[in-house]
Amino acid sequence: MKVTEYFEKANGQTYISFEILPPLKGGKMKAIFDVLDPLMEFKPPFIDVTYHREDFIYKKKESGYYEKTAIRKRPGTVGICAAIMHRYGVDAVPHLICGGFSKEDTENALIDLHFLNVNNVLALRGDARKMDGKFIPEPNGNNYAIDLVKQMADMNTGKYLDGNIVDGEKTDFCIGIAGYPEKHFESPNINMDLEWTKKKIEAGADYIVTQMFFDNDKYFEYVDLCRANGINVPIVPGLKPLTKQYQLNSIPRLFHVNMPEAFAKELSKADSREAVKQVGIEWCIQQSKELKAKGVPCLHYYTMGDTKTIRKIVESVY
Ligand code: FAD
Repeated sequence: MKVTEYFEKANGQTYISFEILPPLKGGKMKAIFDVLDPLMEFKPPFIDVTYHREDFIYKKKESGYYEKTAIRKRPGTVGICAAIMHRYGVDAVPHLICGGFSKEDTENALIDLHFLNVNNVLALRGDARKMDGKFIPEPNGNNYAIDLVKQMADMNTGKYLDGNIVDGEKTDFCIGIAGYPEKHFESPNINMDLEWTKKKIEAGADYIVTQMFFDNDKYFEYVDLCRANGINVPIVPGLKPLTKQYQLNSIPRLFHVNMPEAFAKELSKADSREAVKQVGIEWCIQQSKELKAKGVPCLHYYTMGDTKTIRKIVESVY
């Protein structure tokens, strides 16, 4: 079923969904099941699987020189989605990015997904590779997420890159996109960010999943701004429990989000790893309860493989 169909049939309930990462190359599929098995009792209608493009590393050769090699550390997104759907009978939502894909690669990946009956995709641009500094599309690749959305919307009408295909199979993708309550870090301001978000919706996107946030007011303000700007699709809040003290600095640096003062103070005061974790879990529980009380369509948890923490939170909320 499509993600948006779940929301349409929700009848006032707030769903729970989870986002997982593929294991590091050489890892086992069992690692995914170990994360998800204990979470399935919460009946997530869909599970997201992130996509990780290749990055460059330097490998030392016998000669002593270093060789620059491109490596994808976490392959397997599409296979994991198929395995999840097969094992649990729930929908899987692969993330698909522009980076590293020509439009032809994208088309072929989407055909695979369509044939596997994977009808939900989160369409993203992806970040810059560490060494590139800024996002560089592939030659003949998609530049922005909106180009990927357009390509998917075209395939939904039976239009493929090869203009000679007549009566092409129509795919049926429900298209999710990313949203940023505290604006995307490259955007000059929130209004310009929202303009691009609106264009993605006009191009065919069906719903939004937000970047993590730790201050619910940022989410509520964002939803109000979206609605005032004519963006009327469901907006799913993304939640991540903070469990380690260093994340107080690393999360703002990596994800460009703010830590509310009260939260930062409590975390700084916590004097053991357990105490820090407890503060993070409690904060996420309070965030979840308030969002649920306000009737959000779904609470989407970034699990990062930490099943125990996510279970504690969801058990307290439901
Ligand atoms: P875009 O919508 O392309 O926007 C990028 C920037 O360009 C923004 O500042 C926007 O305002 C601006 N912009 C948009 N369109 C245009 C245009 N046509 N012309 C000029 N400016 C424009 N990354 C991964 O690699 N793998 C994942 O699995 C993944 N999952 C994610 C899940 C969620 C819920 C979120 C919030 C992010 C995820 N990301 C993932 C990170 C994401 O790829 C980055 O945040 C990336 O920098 C931007 O992606 P986007 O789809 O928002 O890009």
